[in-house]
Amino acid sequence: MKTAQQLLHDIFGYTAFRGAQQAIVEHVAAGDDALVLMPTGGGKSLCYQIPALLRDGIGIVISPLIALMQDQVDALQQLGVQAAFLNSSLDAEAAREVTGRLMRGDLKILYVAPERLLMPNFLTLLEQVQDGPGIALFAIDEAHCVSQWGHDFRPEYRKLTVLHERFPNVPRIALTATADAPTRGEIVERLALEDARQFVSSFDRPNIKYRVTQKNNARSQLEAFLESEHPNDAGIVYCLSRRKVEEAADWLKSRGWDALPYHAGLDPNTRNANQRRFLREEGVIMVATVAFGMGIDKPNVRFVAHLDLPKSMEGYYQEAGRAGRDGMPANAWMAYGLGDVVSMRQMLDSGDAPEERKRVERQKLDALLGFCESTACRHQTILRYFGEDHPGSCGQCDNCLEPVETWDGRQAAQMALSCVYRTGQRFGVVHLIDVLLGKSTPKIEQFQHQQLSTFGIGKALSQQQWSSVFRQLVAGGLLETDMEAYGGLKLTEASRPVLKGEQDVWLRRDVEVSKRKTSKAERASRAREGYEGVSDDPLWHALKARRLELAKDQGVPPYVIFHDSTLLEILNQRPQTLDQMGRISGVGQAKLARYGDDFLKVLEDAANGAA
Ligand code: ADP
Ligand code: ZN
Repeated sequence: MKTAQQLLHDIFGYTAFRGAQQAIVEHVAAGDDALVLMPTGGGKSLCYQIPALLRDGIGIVISPLIALMQDQVDALQQLGVQAAFLNSSLDAEAAREVTGRLMRGDLKILYVAPERLLMPNFLTLLEQVQDGPGIALFAIDEAHCVSQWGHDFRPEYRKLTVLHERFPNVPRIALTATADAPTRGEIVERLALEDARQFVSSFDRPNIKYRVTQKNNARSQLEAFLESEHPNDAGIVYCLSRRKVEEAADWLKSRGWDALPYHAGLDPNTRNANQRRFLREEGVIMVATVAFGMGIDKPNVRFVAHLDLPKSMEGYYQEAGRAGRDGMPANAWMAYGLGDVVSMRQMLDSGDAPEERKRVERQKLDALLGFCESTACRHQTILRYFGEDHPGSCGQCDNCLEPVETWDGRQAAQMALSCVYRTGQRFGVVHLIDVLLGKSTPKIEQFQHQQLSTFGIGKALSQQQWSSVFRQLVAGGLLETDMEAYGGLKLTEASRPVLKGEQDVWLRRDVEVSKRKTSKAERASRAREGYEGVSDDPLWHALKARRLELAKDQGVPPYVIFHDSTLLEILNQRPQTLDQMGRISGVGQAKLARYGDDFLKVLEDAANGAA
């Protein structure tokens, strides 16, 4: 009988458990229930896969994500584990074959959709399995789907208590990447997990580098970011609306990028085809609304870019969190400007949600705006929002890598607010800045604004600096847009003490965009991770090309063969024998036997070519 550690090494090819994995594995393998809260990329799958292999019988994994089951089963089969799935995508005969294997005990792990699991005759069949080959455990993946308040509510999830009732001796492990306390409480209650031990991991994603850039020309900023950091990488670009998705995808395509659109308005065939290309090919950029993401567990998404503001910190954390599941360096990049604040606020105000709901949504947006404008460590700000401590100085966010100065904006804020007041609280920011700068425009003539006391008092700052001031005042709630005045700015309750000079205002000094290319510090951090320069290395491309060939032959995504991290270690270590290859992290026994020679050959050919 192998130990958990041996299975980790022999089957998965890893040397050590991560974080709480070992404790969870031992707890569940001993037959006890567990609730596991771990961020995306934390390594939840091993927490039920290894106990399923350690215990007698078959591990049953309940997952709402039909599209994912195939990939997970492919990945397990690559590792030499007998795995299958049962869901509505199988025809009757294929389903019969799987149930046959289940009855015979000719399976170790079965993924099943909740609808299928709950069918009365399937539950009966499971009872027979229990009396026959046995059931090792039930794993309830994406457990937050029981929560009515979340985005992913699945009514069938609430009926999963039947597992506990009919199979009281089978351990259950529920897993989710949703961090908040109310959801956790609901999972415990709805799945009857009161006696389960809770394993709560840190929700930090240290390999993700967060950056928020001030938007001026979003598209060219995005392109500069892609060119300098992700010339060949897969990533996701989020936009707010279907129209913006289409436009940005078309534009990227016209610029020679391999970009595809994804939103709920596309016909299902196109949508699926696009998703498939993103998963199965290398270096595809998905331009998408937030409709895209749930159930995408492609591990090597190297960047997530936001061209528009997310709606909340929760949304941002989740969307950005789709980058770097494999633990390798990844970027979360956002371009953000005054226009975004205005349109987001308008969208919230004009919706027909009840007032109570709107109030909550406004607060959530404000927290996000605070994050955008903050000069503090981004990792720290995000974790604080979720109630977790972080020491700051992460070295992995824009504010830590290039500390942002703040300046005493009390006087500037007073000028701006008083300009809003004197012009009658109905003009937009362009006109207000013209007044402050003392320009003569037809509009200023028309309204005789050159007569105002605020006319020309702001010449000490540039147009761009004023626009930064206004953005921060709006984001900070000192100004708001007036829907009735076509989006003109008006004062708020909060602006009164500032206007009277009774309150300090500290503003961030925006870094000029041109300076914000990859800085030395950022490049150094990439080099530390061993990623620097790989995109220029022909051997890296040769290894990837071989991986893609092998994947295409078998109709699986490339990362199912080897993850990027494994490929990168092969590149850096240059193993010369199968034995050396077997010591690379991610190369277990089955994969060594299947692919060891293939990749040794790539290395050999390169060495010969270079000689
Ligand atoms: P989650 O489901 O929590 O998002 P996964 O189970 O998909 O995370 O794991 C994320 C990545 O980390 C996968 O590529 C997985 O192979 C890898 N991984 C998990 N545990 C370990 C470990 N102990 N050592 C090395 N890599 C690991
Ligand atoms: Zn930081």
